[in-house]
Amino acid sequence: MQHADTILTGGRIFLGLEEGEAEALAIAGSRVLASGSNEEIRTLAGPSTRVIDLAGRAATPGLIDAHLHLLTLGLGMGEINLRPETGTSSIDHILSAVHDAAARTPPGGWIKGRGYDHNELAERRHPTLAELDSVAPDHPVFLERTCGHLAVANSAAMRLAGITRKTPDPAGGFIERRDGELTGLLAERGMRFVVDILPKPSRDEMVAAIERAGRFMLSQGFTGVMDAAIGMNFGEAEVDAFETAARTDRMPLDVWACLYGDPGGVLESAWERGLRFGTSNGRLRYGAAKLFTDGSAGSLTAAVSLPYLAGEPGNTGVLCFKTEELHGHIRRFHELGYQLAIHAIGDVAIEQVLSGIEAADSAAHPIAGRRHRIEHCGYLDAGQMARMAAAGIYPAPQPIFMYEFGDLYVTNLGSERATTAYPMRGFLDAGLMPSASSDAPVATTDPFKNLYTMVTRRSRGGTLLGEDQRLSLQEALHCYTACSAFSQFAEHEVGRLAPGMRANVTIFSHDIFSVPAEVLRDDVRCDMTLLDGDVVHGG
Ligand SMILES: [Zn+2]
Repeated sequence: MQHADTILTGGRIFLGLEEGEAEALAIAGSRVLASGSNEEIRTLAGPSTRVIDLAGRAATPGLIDAHLHLLTLGLGMGEINLRPETGTSSIDHILSAVHDAAARTPPGGWIKGRGYDHNELAERRHPTLAELDSVAPDHPVFLERTCGHLAVANSAAMRLAGITRKTPDPAGGFIERRDGELTGLLAERGMRFVVDILPKPSRDEMVAAIERAGRFMLSQGFTGVMDAAIGMNFGEAEVDAFETAARTDRMPLDVWACLYGDPGGVLESAWERGLRFGTSNGRLRYGAAKLFTDGSAGSLTAAVSLPYLAGEPGNTGVLCFKTEELHGHIRRFHELGYQLAIHAIGDVAIEQVLSGIEAADSAAHPIAGRRHRIEHCGYLDAGQMARMAAAGIYPAPQPIFMYEFGDLYVTNLGSERATTAYPMRGFLDAGLMPSASSDAPVATTDPFKNLYTMVTRRSRGGTLLGEDQRLSLQEALHCYTACSAFSQFAEHEVGRLAPGMRANVTIFSHDIFSVPAEVLRDDVRCDMTLLDGDVVHGG
C-alpha cells in the first residue's frame, strides 16, 4: 500500500463544487492520494507521515488569481503605497508622503507612488501639479491612480517627458489642461509620455520583484496567478525577467503568462523566440495575448453606450482602437495560436471585442475550444452574454471591484448599471466559468475581501449591489479555484482536490463555511499554503 507523505485531518476540506467536502486528505509526493473520513485516511499513514491537524479549520484547493500584475505588484512594494487601506484619506496625506520620499531621494531621482483613489480622499479630487511641485520641486513625481488608467505628474516629470501646455492629446488618451495650463492629470495613452521615460528597473530588480510578489501571494493562500500583461511597462526586459525567474527557481508559484500585444508590445517578438501557446519553463506557462480596448468605469474611460452620469456631460469613455485595427490584431493573435485575453470593460468595448473574435472564426482556425477571454467584462448586456456562451468566450471578472469601487460605479453609471456590473451569478449560470481575480495592484490581492464580495455583493461602503448576483461560498471558491484553473487550461491539474491532482492546498485560520461574512472579510487569514505537496507558507 502507498503511504501518504502528508495527511490533513479534522477539518472541513472543500474538494471542489461537485466533489463536496471531506474531513481528511492524503497527499503522496506532489499529488493528492485520497480524501475521506478521518478514519479512512488515517489508514494511509506510515511511520514518516506528517499529520496536519486542521482542528476544525477549513482547507480548499490552492486559490488562483486569474488576472493580476505580478511584476507591477512586486515593483510597487518599493514605491509609495497610497491605497485607501493605508489611511490615505486626503490630498495632505499624499503630499506629506511625497515630501517624505523627496527627503530621502537624491534630487533628480524619481518619486513614484500608486494606489490613491481620489474618490476616497476628503477633497474628492486628484492632487495637482502645483501641489506636487510645492513638496517636491527638485524631483520628478508620478503617482498612478488605483485603476492604473490615470496618473498625476509634477512639473519636473512633465519636463522630462517633453509634455508642455501645447502638447496635443494623443489618440486614446488625454493631457488635462485648465485655462490652458497643465493640471498634472494624464489619462490612458497620455500617461505613456511619462511611463516611457521612467528609469527601467534592472533585470535583477525585476526578478526580485517577481519573487517578492510571488511569496506574498503564497502567504495569502494563492498557488497560481496570471500575469495579465507581461511586457507592458518594460518591454522584452520583462519577458527576460520572467524567463530568468522561472529558470533560476525564483518563481514561487505557477504563472500563466499573458503577453502584451498592443502596438509596441512584446507579443510578436515572444512568438519569434518560441514562447508560443502550450510552451512552458518551470512554473511559467504560455500563454495568452493581451490587448487593451478601453479604460475603466471608475475613471470614466470604459467605453459605454450610454453616457456617464459624472464628469463631462455626454462622455461615453475611450476606445483604444479603431474597430478594423483591433479586429486585425485579434485575427492575427488567434491565428498564431494564443489564447486571447482582451481588456474590455464597457459594453461598447465588449462589443468591439466580441464581434472581432466572432469574425476571426474560420474553418482553418475555429474559435471553439480556444477559451478566448474578455478581461474584466464588467458591463455587458444579455445578448452579449448569450453570444459569449454560444461561442465559448469567457469572462475574467474582478468581483473585488464591486467592493472597492462599487459606490463609485453608482455615482458614475447609476444604480441600475452598477448593480448589474460584474454579474458573477449570471456568468456562472450561463456556463461561462467565471474565474476570480484582483487585477492587483488595481485592487487588493486580499482573497477574503474578494470572497466576501462574491458572497454578499456589498461595497466597502456597505451598499448592496445586485442581491441576485450573490454566490454561495462554495460557488465563490469554485470561481477562485476550478474556474480560474479552467481559464488557464489547467483544470486537469489544479483547482480541485481529487486523486491524482497536484496537491495545492490552502488552510485558513477559521472554518470559513460557518463564520459570518464580516468575519470572513476582516478576520480570516491564510495559515498555511501547500504547493505540490510542500508547505510553502506557514506551518
Ligand atoms: Zn489588469
